Amino acid sequence: MAHRSLLSSFLSVLLCTAGIFLHGDVLRGQPTAAAASPRLLNALILSGYNNHDWRTSTPFLKKLLLDSGRFAVRVTEEPSGLTPSVLERYDVLVMDYVGSRWGRQAEEAVESFVRQGKGMVVIHGANYAFTGLEVLGDGHKATGLKEEPWPQFLKMVGGYWTASEPKTGHGRRHTFEVVFSDPDHPIAKGMPPKFLATDELYHQPRMQPEAHVIARAMSRKETHGTGREEPILWTVPYGKGRVFYNALGHDAVAMNETGFIGSFLRGAEWAAAGSCTIPFPEKLYPVSKDAKRVLVVTGGHGYEPSFYTLFDGHPGLAWTHAVSASEAFQKDIRSQFDVLVLYDMTAELAPERRENLVRFLESGKGLVVLHHALADYTSWPWWYNEVVGGRYLLKPEGDLPGSTYLHDVELRVTPLGAHPILQGLGPMHFIDETYKGVWHSPAITPLLQTDHPTSDPVIAWISPYAKSRVVAVQPGHDRQSHFYPGFRHLVQNAILWAGASRN
Ligand SMILES: [Zn+2]
Ligand SMILES: [Zn+2]
Repeated sequence: MAHRSLLSSFLSVLLCTAGIFLHGDVLRGQPTAAAASPRLLNALILSGYNNHDWRTSTPFLKKLLLDSGRFAVRVTEEPSGLTPSVLERYDVLVMDYVGSRWGRQAEEAVESFVRQGKGMVVIHGANYAFTGLEVLGDGHKATGLKEEPWPQFLKMVGGYWTASEPKTGHGRRHTFEVVFSDPDHPIAKGMPPKFLATDELYHQPRMQPEAHVIARAMSRKETHGTGREEPILWTVPYGKGRVFYNALGHDAVAMNETGFIGSFLRGAEWAAAGSCTIPFPEKLYPVSKDAKRVLVVTGGHGYEPSFYTLFDGHPGLAWTHAVSASEAFQKDIRSQFDVLVLYDMTAELAPERRENLVRFLESGKGLVVLHHALADYTSWPWWYNEVVGGRYLLKPEGDLPGSTYLHDVELRVTPLGAHPILQGLGPMHFIDETYKGVWHSPAITPLLQTDHPTSDPVIAWISPYAKSRVVAVQPGHDRQSHFYPGFRHLVQNAILWAGASRN
């Protein structure tokens, strides 16, 4: 569960940055809530202004919270509009904000929210806000605007920035150890006794007596620090409420550390509920325990590397790659893989390789045949008649003319029926290569159809092969489909469905 989530969080940020795939990620849906949790905790992230890059940090924090399976999350980019009735439904506020004061109504609403027993989490530079120091705009520039401090906020956060001696600051960004000084605190209890962070190491925050430091780091002079241990994580009781401050989290890179993720999520859970169940992430890029083991076979036909992104980043797919069919089937692979994805174009397969492939399929393991792999093993009738239920004809055969192809066709595609592979898919529209004159077995179950005159009507199907689950998908030539959310969803669904063994 947690494993799933971390990977997708990380990817989501990468993918948001790349400006692609986000919809594919969304299509996959949210992980289910942690079994132990009675209900989702409601978190509201306060953002919209920050001298840090809130446009990437806020979505990252949101994704972490959502993917933990413990939180429902909303974001406001105008916290000055908060009222008691808006805040009522939330359990915890996450402060990713540095900017001007919010005005009486919002400030009183937030203060009484915490005082009356709810939670607040303050991230990194957000304890600069409301200190009376010059208001900062995006990119650390002072706006010239000075405001009165908000004393209740400074009490809630328990330690904040000051420009008077000893001044708050940080040395050079580097990798340092964060050590729990209160290993029995609920936030610390599920974490290792120390962890590494690559971040700014804040020094000399103006600590308040109510703050309880739970983790510290040595701020070394060599990195322009203070030569003393500095507080990194602390908690503050405020009225009946709980506040957690995390000095880590300068940007999405710093937030993409197991220590940040673990301490942020557990801290948010503690602030919201008073106890912690979210596990510490041992690894950032794990594959989920129940992931399908996928062997992807290429060779004999070129392709764009965007093809790999179909599998990379899906936590349910633990995939590896064989660069030829000959390499893929040199031994019995039944114990190693759950499903094969063919994206090769191989004319002949030697008899012992055929045997391994037959063994694999007869054992009930799945198969997905993509795009040019419809022209595989053209002299092996069992293969195309029984297993795939279709074949691209490289040349005319008897009464059948050769199949044809055309690149860069704008396709309108309609799902057919209610097969599990089509779940979540509606009509699609993307650019791909079309095939026409592909031989289809009369026994196939069509999944997708198109109306384009240069294409066969049926462009994806379930084969009639009884011993294992076989899916054929004709599109998939280049990045126009590889990156298209509907195509990604279709292929990923096809692999997961085919990989669910018949035996
Ligand atoms: Zn920073
Ligand atoms: Zn192609």
